[in-house]
Amino acid sequence: MFVLQILYSSHGILILLLALTAVIGDYLVEHLRLHLHKALFDNITHALIGGISWLIVCMTFRNRYTLQTLIEIALCTVIASGIDLDHFYAARSFSLKDATSLKNRPALHCSSVPLIVVFILFLISYTLRERWLLRVALIIFTAFSSHHTRDATRRGYWFYPFGSTPSIPYVVYILLTILIPYLVCLIINFTDKQKNIISQSIVNII
Ligand SMILES: [Zn+2]
Repeated sequence: MFVLQILYSSHGILILLLALTAVIGDYLVEHLRLHLHKALFDNITHALIGGISWLIVCMTFRNRYTLQTLIEIALCTVIASGIDLDHFYAARSFSLKDATSLKNRPALHCSSVPLIVVFILFLISYTLRERWLLRVALIIFTAFSSHHTRDATRRGYWFYPFGSTPSIPYVVYILLTILIPYLVCLIINFTDKQKNIISQSIVNII
């Protein structure tokens, strides 16, 4: 029912925007000549995909708190972009050449890290019934999963200590990028229902 609700709402344009951002961004990165321009557009594409993904989440739930919505979208954009800063940290250098010629992938590109962090935040928010913490956890999840999915076309997903998956096909990357915000919507919808069931139980007991 909820999936149908998403499909029949005005999300077609946002899905198209998300897919086009990914495809155009990748095309530019592929065809630009200067290393600096490639790195810049690569990062901008990560940032835009993160921001649009969270915009889809906000649009699905018709968030009326404009300032909160803007802050959340900005946060998702900044995290999706900032993940690549760990290239510089791992290289111990501000040089773009050093940062992009690392032998091993830096820590924030390990998908086990955000999964563990998000799981812990999710448990804390569920235990303390702090809804804002759940949203922060889901913003982090959206930013990391969209970034790692885009990078996975080149090097697969890295799940320490189990190793890396093979590179994913381009079409799978686009489909997963579109699916991520809707997966987040399903999680929010599920937790909302749980909250209502708990509230109703408390009312019945009283
Ligand atoms: Zn990256």
